[in-house]
Amino acid sequence: MRGVVMYTAGDVRVEEREDPKIIEPTDAIVKLTATCICGSDLWPYRGIEPADHQVMGHEYVGVVEEVGSEVKNVKVGDFVVGSFVISDNTCEICQAGFQSKCVHAEFVSQTIGTQAEKARIPHADGTLVATPGQPDPELIPALLAASDVLGTGWYAAVAAQAGPGKTVAVVGDGAVGLMAVLAAKQLGAERIIAMSRHPERQKLARYYGATDIVEERGEAGVAKIKEMTGGYGAHSVIEAVGTQESFMQAVGATRGGGHLGYVGVNYDVQIPGIELFFAGIHTLGGPAPVRRFLPDLIQLIWDRTINPGKVFDLTLPLERAPEGYKAMDERRATKVLLTL
Ligand SMILES: [Zn+2]
Ligand SMILES: [Zn+2]
Repeated sequence: MRGVVMYTAGDVRVEEREDPKIIEPTDAIVKLTATCICGSDLWPYRGIEPADHQVMGHEYVGVVEEVGSEVKNVKVGDFVVGSFVISDNTCEICQAGFQSKCVHAEFVSQTIGTQAEKARIPHADGTLVATPGQPDPELIPALLAASDVLGTGWYAAVAAQAGPGKTVAVVGDGAVGLMAVLAAKQLGAERIIAMSRHPERQKLARYYGATDIVEERGEAGVAKIKEMTGGYGAHSVIEAVGTQESFMQAVGATRGGGHLGYVGVNYDVQIPGIELFFAGIHTLGGPAPVRRFLPDLIQLIWDRTINPGKVFDLTLPLERAPEGYKAMDERRATKVLLTL
């Protein structure tokens, strides 16, 4: 089969890879319909994470081609959406809704690599969710978004306790930030402030439900949020960037006793304990337990209540994945969908 391999930073190739096979009785082989490039794929591309012939990709939708003898919830021919973290969905941590911390957790990006024609998905029953039927082609980008960016934005909004009567501030206008805006709207938030300087992304944030846009950043951004909320700060703040400035901006924008949901992967963030101490806020974040939300998100997409597929602004065939990486690296694209 064809698949993406990152030889080293900046060197992405599409080449022949071995076809995946069932190894464990709980595995499924999925023939992928669509996959995509994630903001997190840019870390190895930019040399922030090491890459040495690394298989790439962790977001995926497709049709089940083969199942192991113990797989019961999905069957051959089902159209499925999977989480970017493998989970059994049965251990105590999964049952509590934190499937990304499952005792059998495995990152799809590290060992499987779904920027390819097929993928072996371990713990298929606990990782994959079948759609109610074969989807219309127009729903495929939305379903693909559920695999990571929508699930992650949704988790962030839930972690930040976005809901009726709440003012929500979203730090970050990438795909996850935009999906957090969508989630906050669906969860019934009263006011949603998107923090963005990018005109196209401001427009999309408004489409997804942002009521206000704030262009200021850092301390000026915090001051603006305070000014807009009677000096209190937002009830719910979502951090979807992962830099020092964005993280501290998110902490500062959260009112005392408020909730911060953080999903930006923060390699280099140093959180001064004393600032967190005096902030007096609730914090919850980390890799999103997308599997918890998948059944509900699939239904919302199926019913055409939400349209998260608009976060993809460039579509390329898998063979042209290297161009997609370049476009995202140069910020010419927010998120690239790869077709098969
Ligand atoms: Zn991703
Ligand atoms: Zn588990």
